[in-house]
Amino acid sequence: MIDLRSDTVTKPTEEMRKAMANAQVGDDVYGEDPTINELESLAASIFGKEAALFVPSGTMGNQVSIMAHTQRGDEVILEANSHIFWYEVGAMSVLSGVMPHPIEGKNGAMDPNEVEKAIRPKNIHFPRTSLITIENTHNRSGGRVVPLENIKAIYEIAKKHGINVHIDGARIFNASIASGTAVKEYAKYADSIMFCLSKGLSAPVGSLVVGSKDFIERARKARKMLGGGMRQAGILAAAGIVALTKMVDRLKEDHENAKYLAIKLKEIGYMTSPEDVETNMAVLRADNLALSAPEFVAVMKEHGVLANAISNSAIRLVTHKDVSKADIENALDIFEKLFKIYGKEMN
Ligand SMILES: *Cc1c(COP(=O)(O)O)cnc(C)c1O
Repeated sequence: MIDLRSDTVTKPTEEMRKAMANAQVGDDVYGEDPTINELESLAASIFGKEAALFVPSGTMGNQVSIMAHTQRGDEVILEANSHIFWYEVGAMSVLSGVMPHPIEGKNGAMDPNEVEKAIRPKNIHFPRTSLITIENTHNRSGGRVVPLENIKAIYEIAKKHGINVHIDGARIFNASIASGTAVKEYAKYADSIMFCLSKGLSAPVGSLVVGSKDFIERARKARKMLGGGMRQAGILAAAGIVALTKMVDRLKEDHENAKYLAIKLKEIGYMTSPEDVETNMAVLRADNLALSAPEFVAVMKEHGVLANAISNSAIRLVTHKDVSKADIENALDIFEKLFKIYGKEMN
């Protein structure tokens, strides 16, 4: 099987497994796990923030951040296709008692003027706007990079109004590699950032949240409340340290593979836009196929290629460490065969 569903399917490297087996551990709820402490200081220093918190998942990282930034009844401005809005089971409303205020972005980037217009004025009837979240790279738009200038502009508006900014940076290292912008630069314009070790960076489990000492202290308490306080979790952090120190630079291979895949798919006749491929995702539209996106995904699976339909008419293809260039070539042979059966001319 050639698995293009997500970069979450990546398996830990041999080096990670060795580091995990040999990790020094302690009870992290007591703050005594040396490997967790090392990973958290490493993350804080890479992002130029005071502190960091290891969490079991990206979802928990986003949610403890929202809990730490907001009060019940507040409103959170976010992008209408963001992960926090679509894929976190409505957690912000359940856990933090806050209301989402979605704004439609372009390639994942919200217009700063629209963001400013969405901020609630002081009025007895209105909720208080206390947080803006930005997603980079932006998943549902096909791994698009949200430009630094856009983030900066939104951050400056937020600060003018006394509002915090959180970046859902599950794939912030993909954004950094693609744009040549250090993650520290993104972090200058955010009060907190969550990023995942378990996606393209290939660690088996875990994400981190970075921010001020004060914020991380509140997030740590929120993590405990959600049941995310772990004990000898240094076993996991050991893989995370390898992920952060050894696995970032190779993301460019994933980006090259995604670009190549999109270029070749277009040559075959598929509807895809190689020019929109900035990181490790390509979106294939099903409009000129005789099947809907979910139906075509089922056929692909029978032929040995896995992918996810992200709507009735779009399929997302994600490249990662565990798909080689040879796998991509094999997948393209299969795609070519399938296009002969299911493709149709569109004029
Ligand atoms: C994967 C992802 C998350 C959540 O991570 P999990 O570890 O799956 O909970 C959050 N935001 C974005 C943009 C993601 O792609």
